[in-house]
Amino acid sequence: MTDSPIRCTIDLDAPGKQIGRLQVPRSSNTSGWSSLFVPIVSVARGEGPSALVIGGVHGDEPEGQVAALNLARDLRPDQVTGRVTVIPCLSPDASRAYTRLWPSGANLNRSFPGRPDGPADEQLAHFLSTELFPRADVVVDIHSGGRTALCLPWSEMHWVEDADQRRRMVEGMLAWNTDWCCVYIDVAGTGLLVGEAERQGKTVISTELGGGGHVTAEIHRLAASGLANVLRHEGVLAGEPITRAALGKPDPTLLMATDVDDYVLAPETGLFETLVSLGQHVDPGQPVGRIHFLERPERPPEVVGASNGGIVCVIRAIASTSQGDNVVVTARVAERSELD
Ligand SMILES: [Zn+2]
Repeated sequence: MTDSPIRCTIDLDAPGKQIGRLQVPRSSNTSGWSSLFVPIVSVARGEGPSALVIGGVHGDEPEGQVAALNLARDLRPDQVTGRVTVIPCLSPDASRAYTRLWPSGANLNRSFPGRPDGPADEQLAHFLSTELFPRADVVVDIHSGGRTALCLPWSEMHWVEDADQRRRMVEGMLAWNTDWCCVYIDVAGTGLLVGEAERQGKTVISTELGGGGHVTAEIHRLAASGLANVLRHEGVLAGEPITRAALGKPDPTLLMATDVDDYVLAPETGLFETLVSLGQHVDPGQPVGRIHFLERPERPPEVVGASNGGIVCVIRAIASTSQGDNVVVTARVAERSELD
């Protein structure tokens, strides 16, 4: 029995296709007794694995929301063995505002595992942690760089200690068929959705599909094809998974952004000028950008150097920059065997 205040309007264990919502209680200036509606779709048939697909943890990342909406609308029970549960957008108010964070200022991706008597974001996180993750074998959480950052499109994972879980996550990450795959660390706080799902032993697959405030048709196709292939790979969606080799593509490049100094932070506030391109190799200390000072035209720009060498995999997308903002991420190229 859950102690969650959230009402779910579908039966999370029933067969067939159901479309409903999670209702998060709220009380606002315009409605004292209301709820935030978070749509949820469940498609189930027979015995098999259970996958949870999530888009829109951050509101300014439409790639996953569009892919998840398309999946949720099109998916039929006869295509499923097991269960696919889809939440196309976990942060609807942020999506409507096209902002990374909730209007309340909450970052849902720092709210996990949540608590039933916390603010709305923590209540929602708690419902996922106690009701949805335990029912899932596979958790897919689709992100991008949003408006703030442009990422090489990649599928990604944390390093997890359990070798069997790590193997499942590596295989799931590779099944997205992106040109790049990335192992990353959390450098800006705890409480991530994927962290709680990993703690529960799930096969957790995530992405950073571009970003920069613009989604190309190619990225939308990569979101849709990767998501479907991951679900086929996990055995929950009908059809044989497609390999990169079958597509005539080489193995993906595996990146390790696992050193805190891979995440280059702005030393001063100003207007950021990038000097590098995504996918470019840089040497340690090589200038990756410059920060200009609008109020001081006589002052030379501050040169920002890479700490570690490697491949440039993230570039800041908003030129206006505050001290401490991440401007570039570099990563070293790794061998697949490092993840064994
Ligand atoms: Zn995100």
